[in-house]
Amino acid sequence: MAGASVLIIGGGIIGLSIAFELAQLETRTRITVLERNRVGSGTTSKATGGIRTQFSSEANVQLALLSRDRFAHWQSIYGGNPRFARIGYLFVTAGDRQAAVLRTGALEQRRWGVEVSLLTAHDVARLVPGMATEDLRLGTFTESDGIADPGAATSALESACRRAGVEVREGARVQSLLLDARGAAAGVALQDETTLAADRVVVACGPWTAPLLATIGLSVPISPHHRQVYRTGPLPTWPSTIPLTVDLDTGLYCHSDGGAVVFGGGDRDTAPSFDDRPRPSDVAQLGEALIQRWPLLSDAPIVHTWAGLREMTPDDHGVVGELPDHPGIFVAAGFSGHGFMQGPAVGLVTAALVTGSPPPVDASALSPTRFRLNQRGHHGTEQYVF
Ligand SMILES: Cc1cc2nc3c(=O)[nH]c(=O)nc-3n(C[C@H](O)[C@H](O)[C@H](O)COP(=O)(O)OP(=O)(O)OC[C@H]3O[C@@H](n4cnc5c(N)ncnc54)[C@H](O)[C@@H]3O)c2cc1C
Repeated sequence: MAGASVLIIGGGIIGLSIAFELAQLETRTRITVLERNRVGSGTTSKATGGIRTQFSSEANVQLALLSRDRFAHWQSIYGGNPRFARIGYLFVTAGDRQAAVLRTGALEQRRWGVEVSLLTAHDVARLVPGMATEDLRLGTFTESDGIADPGAATSALESACRRAGVEVREGARVQSLLLDARGAAAGVALQDETTLAADRVVVACGPWTAPLLATIGLSVPISPHHRQVYRTGPLPTWPSTIPLTVDLDTGLYCHSDGGAVVFGGGDRDTAPSFDDRPRPSDVAQLGEALIQRWPLLSDAPIVHTWAGLREMTPDDHGVVGELPDHPGIFVAAGFSGHGFMQGPAVGLVTAALVTGSPPPVDASALSPTRFRLNQRGHHGTEQYVF
């Protein structure tokens, strides 16, 4: 592969992870990450950092298991420390329909290798002090899941990429993709009117992926949706650690951060928009759900609100693979709110696809071709979304 060149557009967790894994597989290929701003400044910088293995599709579960293992062994693989803490991940519901989803999900997840426990309301009350649990029908708990620091993860990956010989270019905004006469990858045009040639190009632009693919006339259904997170001031009565807890009925999620509480969610149905400015007054919409589940938070001061864009697809699964009519152009985007946790596995899978080697996880269900067959894909819509 002497003289070969791969361009990766996007310096978030996904693009960096792909670049690192490619550098392990093709030591003589010139690998360049093109990031329009600063590395890690995109949606990855807004992520809460939750890492879970509870999903309803096998593809998502296998990606999550592989990624979680990489987070657990991060230092020896990439160097640096994203502070992965196994605080556990808990889903709860008070409704019959969602209880059936969780029960069926747990059976499937066990089949796919996830250690998941079914909890009664009483079990949940013991696990999460301060939570109102009387009405709960069911909880499902994965003790080995947890949370990590997205900023620390991207900066560790950037260093790992540079050590592996990857060129990481910041301030390099790609204006359009370039095709040859057959429609195959030829390179990219940058905003500064220079061009870069490459016969393999990976588009990993998170929520901004669709506009770039539109430059070659493609319409890929990855749309940006506002997601907001709130942090309270220190609360003396709040437990220092609780599992990352999701109320599946309202979409509210919550975890401890030092002596404070971080919560968010419940905004899954916002209209698509690239406006990622925080909207602090939206906390009122979550208010009822929050206080119903966490009465202790009724007077908690909110000291910080931040927001970003989740890159959603119609079936809440990522899009990973080569574009069928455009050989050499690969997409790795649209992870629908679970791209941070899937990043390490997506790096391995995409690098394998780019080099033509067998991927460690069968991600064919995430192929971009699925949108041609059926807008919802053939694995069904992901049920564990909030
Ligand atoms: C508030 C919030 C909370 C979240 N919490 C979690 C969580 O707990 N767990 C989890 O797994 N996921 C979470 N997510 C989702 C997660 O953040 C994303 O799925 C993940 O970060 C996607 O990574 P990425 O590398 O694809 O995208 P990004 O980090 O956005 O990287 C894409 C990069 O491409 C660059 N780019 C775009 N266009 C161009 C161009 N034309 N030229 C050059 N560069 C370009 C951007 O500047 C950006 O840096 C959350 C998201 C939000 C908004």
